[in-house]
Amino acid sequence: MNTIHHGFWTYVALRKRKEAVPYALIGSVFPDLIYYIMFFYIVIFGDIFTTDAIQEIGWSGVIHNLAHALFAHPVVEVLRQAGHSIFVWGVVFAVVVFFKGWRLNRWTGFMYGWLGHVVIDLLTHVEDAVPIFYPVSNLIVRGPVSYWDDRYYGDVFSFINGILIGITVNILIIKRVNARRKRSL
Ligand SMILES: [Zn+2]
Repeated sequence: MNTIHHGFWTYVALRKRKEAVPYALIGSVFPDLIYYIMFFYIVIFGDIFTTDAIQEIGWSGVIHNLAHALFAHPVVEVLRQAGHSIFVWGVVFAVVVFFKGWRLNRWTGFMYGWLGHVVIDLLTHVEDAVPIFYPVSNLIVRGPVSYWDDRYYGDVFSFINGILIGITVNILIIKRVNARRKRSL
């Protein structure tokens, strides 16, 4: 799923656990952060984003080449797989539980946000799925739908996800307005 939507659904799921929400939000976007960091790295230090290239192949061509270079970059390749691996998550979770315990706190909040991201991506990536137990196994489990690829209902998924987000935002706003009204009575 795209990064912003991960953050949104994590907020909705954990919003009542206020002490953990900010950390869960960071955890929920953590596996994708490397894309943004390396995107800017390639834009600034690479030779793809130049005025010559924009004149020659246009903006869409340059963006396409940037996206290509991003996902082919060895740092992105390794960290993308590590960040989306249940195995890597499990190892870190074991360390966190050992030092901080099971109960919901900042650390476990971060870990649950991260886990939510991994599970949602497991269900919404088909041809671009990564090995689920990276780096100890090459097993790839492909999701039933893709969040972007129309060949695997990407259009349907985006449509339904968009509607659910719209409905949820409205419910949250109505609840907040009602709570405020009750308080002021
Ligand atoms: Zn992801």
